[in-house]
Amino acid sequence: MVNLEEYVQKYRLFLIAGIILLAVGLIACMGKKEEPVPHPMAKEEDHRGVTVLNYHKIDNTFHSLSVRPEDFEKQMKWLSQHGYHTITPDQLYDFVTNGVELPYNPVMITFDDGYVDNYNNAYPIMKKYGFVGTIFVVTTYLDQYPNYLTWSQARELENNGFSIESHTATHKSMTEASDSQIMEELTKSKEMLREKLDKESNYIAYPTGTYNLHIAQLVKNAGYKAGFTIKYDAVNRNSNVYALERVPIFHTEDTNKDFLERIQFIPLMNKDGWLKK
Ligand SMILES: [Zn+2]
Repeated sequence: MVNLEEYVQKYRLFLIAGIILLAVGLIACMGKKEEPVPHPMAKEEDHRGVTVLNYHKIDNTFHSLSVRPEDFEKQMKWLSQHGYHTITPDQLYDFVTNGVELPYNPVMITFDDGYVDNYNNAYPIMKKYGFVGTIFVVTTYLDQYPNYLTWSQARELENNGFSIESHTATHKSMTEASDSQIMEELTKSKEMLREKLDKESNYIAYPTGTYNLHIAQLVKNAGYKAGFTIKYDAVNRNSNVYALERVPIFHTEDTNKDFLERIQFIPLMNKDGWLKK
């Protein structure tokens, strides 16, 4: 007969070790369960960054800044078929600064200047695919020139998920303006967007894409959270929020081929470390 007390005494150390091991295992399991399940593509997305497309006009004028509506439609269709999700500047900002996850295959679609064809031609196509975009408007041009958006159109876009943001008040090149002129461009456009659309515009696209560290500081001082350039690259978590990268899409001899190269090539280049220093 085995005396239980003796048995326990003899194997006490083993029992205690066993209990500790069991407890450690249990805690490890529970800890694991509480961790958020990583998105299967999350790692790859982080690595390759987010492409921010930059359009201007969507029309048939064959202007160098124009993309034909039929080409734009093909591009949106391609994005939709390949499972892309359009994101807002707030989402991009949260991704860069706070590490907030983005939907699978994120892309941000931006338009500069605020042409009326964005409303007439791009908007209906994007709506069809459930896409939203960001339009950087030159605020004094609205309700002023016929080829630019009206405030009523801007409001409709804003109410339907689009983001109307600042491209300054008069599109003055900031590198050629004085500090007080720059501040006026920045604050006036912010005020107009607040007055006309009841919104706080936190994002700016630099006119002609040009900026420097001093201008970026003024943009920050004026209360903007981020600035978009035309520096050709994808945005990732190391990006400077006042110098966010974008990929321009223009009218070329083969716009759609160029589009495919640009949307796919940048991530590939980043992946191989060719672009980022
Ligand atoms: Zn512009």
